[in-house]
Parts: sequence; structure tokens; C-alpha cells
Amino acid sequence: MLRVAVVGSGPSGVYTAQALVGQSDVPGIRVDVLDRLPCPYGLVRYGVAPDHEKIKSLQGSLRTVLEDERIAFLGDVEVGTRGLTPARLLELYHAVVYCVGAARDRRLGIPGEELRGSFSATEFVSWYSAHPDAVHEDFGLDRAGAVVVGAGNVAVDVTRLLVRRAEELRPTDIPQDALEALKDSAVREVHMVARRGPSAARFTTKELRELGALPDTEVVVDPAELALDPGYAAPDGLPAVSRRNVEVLRAWAGRAAEGSPRARAVRLRFFLRPVEILGEAGRVTAVRFERTEPDGQGRVRGTGRYEEIPAGLVLRAVGYQGVPLPGLPFDTATGTVPHEAGRVLRDGVPSPGEYVAGWIKRGPTGVIGTNRPCAKETVASLLADAPALARRPIAPDPLPELHALGHEPVPWTGWLAIERAEAALGGTLGRGPVKIPDWTGLRGAARGGPAFDAARRPGEGGLADRTREGGPIS
Ligand code: NAP
Repeated sequence: MLRVAVVGSGPSGVYTAQALVGQSDVPGIRVDVLDRLPCPYGLVRYGVAPDHEKIKSLQGSLRTVLEDERIAFLGDVEVGTRGLTPARLLELYHAVVYCVGAARDRRLGIPGEELRGSFSATEFVSWYSAHPDAVHEDFGLDRAGAVVVGAGNVAVDVTRLLVRRAEELRPTDIPQDALEALKDSAVREVHMVARRGPSAARFTTKELRELGALPDTEVVVDPAELALDPGYAAPDGLPAVSRRNVEVLRAWAGRAAEGSPRARAVRLRFFLRPVEILGEAGRVTAVRFERTEPDGQGRVRGTGRYEEIPAGLVLRAVGYQGVPLPGLPFDTATGTVPHEAGRVLRDGVPSPGEYVAGWIKRGPTGVIGTNRPCAKETVASLLADAPALARRPIAPDPLPELHALGHEPVPWTGWLAIERAEAALGGTLGRGPVKIPDWTGLRGAARGGPAFDAARRPGEGGLADRTREGGPIS
């Protein structure tokens, strides 16, 4: 018998569980997949944009894995709280694989970042993804201009969501509050700003192209700005993705102005690095950028010339960062847990029974599929160690121990109850399933208790009522 805990039920956690039961010839292997949220799927549920329905549909295959009889989902269990330290977890399982991702957003470290109207893209994504920890901020959607700093796929996601029309989002599971706020949004022009040139942008071509396909939205690029990049003039030596990106941008640059003006604009800007967020009366009014130029080494240097872009909303989409888990080693320089082929290193030596996979292992890069080989590598290490690990005595059943510590895991049936409640909520709104955006609602739905009903029942001030008051979303 081998009992393994996988901490985190995002793609890396689920692929780890899948590889464990798929690659293992250990008889009687049991895998518990723990998550701090009552819901599985990590960033597929709480990071992939609602209008990326094809990527969202990956939840179907992750679900099949979690329904394997050798795997159990234990939601609402946060490792690191209520005495459930990594050391305690290792007394309950032969092995623990940490797949906890990279939860924190990076900051710019420039003046004005604290002004109202300046947010991390993570805050905005959490809000439109109905993450229960999301702060329901006033995102400054009452101003026409917005600036998104960064040139990765998160920057593209938030830019797209800012200019998408609400009726296009209505069929998705976006929470009702976010849908209504986006319906009323005054944002008409989004500047997505990169500090380097187009050949160094981190977004992928499919995501870039999508911006050009948005209805009633024009994508504007400045040919002179693109031409500053040596990779733009001579793209042959570029990696394939960068070459394709450059070709898309070149086509946009060469496009003649189209007939009637579009209602919304996305302006892709390059060679501008943010130096200050400007404000008035505590609120964002503009971002000051320094113009940069290539330094010949693939990076850029400042030119001493500046430009201000007016904005009522600034989203920084400059990458994620791993967060240390107390009791687990952490390398602050890389934001990851030190490891060797997935084996956690304590003082440079593999710690028996402790492993990592996903972003906390390799940093916040790659697409969802990148987690598969990453998980496989970790699982190969774990299974090689399994004969020795399985000899260590552990508690006979982790559940009573978790209860004794004050954790009340939401089982798979609890998650299925949340799904039913989200379908019911959508039904009251005349929509498909709509995400429940708060802890009380999720826990109430998972445990079949009254919290969900009380919060949502028509006539009691729930979301259904607010929608009725606000009229239909169109
Ligand atoms: P990312 O790909 O690392 O991009 C971060 C961007 O921020 C880069 O353009 C970077 O520029 C810029 N940046 C960093 N520090 C900056 C600073 N101080 N000032 C100005 N710009 C700065 O990060 P991400 O967009 O958060 O994405 C994380 C991962 O999730 C990626 O692997 C991404 O592909 C994936 N993802 C995928 C999808 C999808 O497939 N649809 C959607 C969302 C996320 P430099 O290059 O100059 O450093």
C-alpha cells in the first residue's frame, strides 16, 4: 500500500495524480488530492478567462482523473493552517507532492502603484473568475482609457476582457456581478504596453490573433515602433512563436484604415517601461513611461525620453510569483521550492517523501500542457523511491486526523453539489451555470446547508434579485 497526498488540484496536481495511478504498479495505491478551495481545477477554473471555453473544457478530462476510484478529492483543506504543517502531513501519508502553483502577482515597484484604479491583473482575473478571495473592487471601469502593463498571455486576457461586449460573456460562467459591471463599463481604449520589442513579447500567437478578431474593436500598432526591433526587420532567426507573432503584427501594421470607426480600440505599444503611475485625489489618471531602445543584448535601455498615457485603470500583468509555504524550503530568488527531478531538497539533500510539481517547481511559465511532462518527471522520482517510502508507518486513516485538527474536507460529492448549485443559480438568471463567488455560498452549497439558499433565494437580496433590479444583461 502506498498513500500519497497531492496538494493542489490545478492541472499540475491532477496530472500528478493521474501519473501516480497510471504509471504505478504499486498495488493498493491511494491518492488524496487536497485543495484549499472547496472547488477543484485551480487556474483552469480560476485563471483561464471565461471566454476561453475550449481551454475551460479541459475541466472535463481533469474531472475524469479525479473520479478514478483510487483518487479522492479533499477540498477546503489548507495545508499550513490549523496545525496541518508539511511535517504533520508526512505523518499521514507516505509521500506528499506539492503542486501549489505561484499564487502571488509581481509588482512594478514604481511610485503610484497604490493609487485607486491601479491593480494587479491577478486581482482583476480573480474578480471575473469568481475566486472566493477576490476583492470586489471598483475597477475604475467608468473611465474610457485603461493601461495594461506587460506582454504575456495574462496581459492579452485582461485586455480582451476589458473590450469584450457583455453579451459575448453572458453564455459563459462569469459571475453575475462582473458581467453587470462589464456591461456598464465605459472603457473604450486599452493600451497594452511592453517594455521590450515585439519579437520579445511572451504572448502566444493564437492569443494575439484573438485580439484582432474581436467584434467592433480595432487593433492599432505603430509601424515605426515595431521597426525599432531588429527581430522585426529580420525575423528568420527568431523562435517560431516570436516569428509568428511578428508576422501577425506586421499584417496589422500594413493594414489600411478600415471603413467606419470601431467602438473600441486596443493599442499595442512597445519599448515603453513604466516609471510612475500618476494620480489626482488618490486616483489613477495616467501612466508615465520611459521610452526604451534595444541594447543589443536582447534587453533594453532607457532613452531619457518620456511619454504619458492617460488611464482610469491600470492593470499590471507582469507575471506571477511563488509563495513560501511555512515548513517547506523556498528559494526567494526564483520563487520556487528547491528540488532535484521533483524531489524536495532540504539543505541540498532530497527530503524523503516530499516532492513538487508545476509552477512551484519550475516557476510560472508554460501552458497547461507543460504540466504533464513536469508531473511525470516528479512521479517517476516518487515511484523510484516508493519501496522505501512504503515501509514507513503512517496513520491508518488521514480523515479522522484531519477532523481532529479542525479541517472539514469537502469531498467529491460536495464539489458535485456546488456544480448543481451553480447550475441552479444560472437558471434563476436565465443563464447556463454561473459561478458562486464567495466562501459562504461555496461552503453552503458543498455541504447542502442553508447558506447557499439564504444568500441566493429570490426575494432575499441574492444575485437573482440584483439582476432583476438591474434589468437583463444584453
Ligand atoms: P509572462 O508570460 O511571464 O509575461 C510577463 C510580462 O510582463 C512580460 O512581457 C514581461 O516583460 C513583463 N514584465 C515583467 N516585469 C516587468 C516590469 N517591471 N515592467 C514592465 N513589464 C514587465 O507572465 P503572464 O502573462 O503572467 O503568464 C504566466 C504564464 O501563464 C505564462 O506561461 C503564460 O503563457 C500562461 N498563460 C497562458 C494563457 C493561455 O494559454 N491562454 C493565459 C494566461 C496565462 P519582459 O519579457 O521584458 O520581462
